[in-house]
Amino acid sequence: MATVTLKNVKKIYDNKVTAVHDFNLEIADKEFIVLVGPSGCGKSTTLRMVAGLEEISEGDLLIGDKRMNDVEPKDRDIAMVFQNYALYPHMTVYENMAFALKLRKLPKDEIDKKVREAAEILDITSYLDRKPKALSGGQRQRVAIGRAIVRNPQVFLMDEPLSNLDAKLRNQMRAEIIKLRQRIDTTFIYVTHDQTEAMTLGDRIVIMKDGYIQQIGTPQEVFEHP
Ligand code: ADP
Ligand code: ADP
Repeated sequence: MATVTLKNVKKIYDNKVTAVHDFNLEIADKEFIVLVGPSGCGKSTTLRMVAGLEEISEGDLLIGDKRMNDVEPKDRDIAMVFQNYALYPHMTVYENMAFALKLRKLPKDEIDKKVREAAEILDITSYLDRKPKALSGGQRQRVAIGRAIVRNPQVFLMDEPLSNLDAKLRNQMRAEIIKLRQRIDTTFIYVTHDQTEAMTLGDRIVIMKDGYIQQIGTPQEVFEHP
């Protein structure tokens, strides 16, 4: 059960900037949460704290009932997709997707099965042998998502995954993410500054401003009572 709980979570950077004040949220197993708000409101910082890429200054992060504050990122059952894809340029699509599984020393045939399943879900089977530089932005983002889902993460974090795509591709990928969600059993936390993305993807939307949560609700609640 991958519930995610943030209790009075706060982030103060070394330069004394308080990026996140007193963040409280209980995310249900398999819920799709969207953090939305203008640039600089603390969305990425919050996501990075869940991933373990940024230390939590105060408060608690729980996955299930386990406190995660001091757990190394590699020991968290979490995958993250970034705006800039962050693929390994010297590896093929297949190798990019297999990499984390190789590190875990999974048997080769099991790795192959997982990579091909994920490739099928994301419709990238036909370019498994290509290097990232031979792919379009949309294709690269599919690979980045594929690389994340081969690990069957309990929690899937996405930081502005569609922001580098043009409007047409963005709409297409948004629909893909909705489909993906139906096929994998994962709790999602998704960061965007785009209201349409928030409204179409989120079970609940968390609106942030200046490091504070302004509102939490379903798209209907947030839309009807802004
Ligand atoms: P975002 O798209 O989240 O607004 P930014 O362009 O603000 O991203 O930040 C890009 C990177 O720079 C991030 O890794 C962020 O943590 C870091 N960063 C942002 N603001 C500062 C700052 N004031 N001092 C140091 N690093 C920062
Ligand atoms: P968002 O993702 O909503 O754009 P961020 O979480 O990137 O917001 O940033 C929240 C605040 O924290 C901003 O004021 C930003 O400049 C600051 N910040 C982000 N990263 C760093 C950092 N590494 N060091 C210092 N300040 C940072």
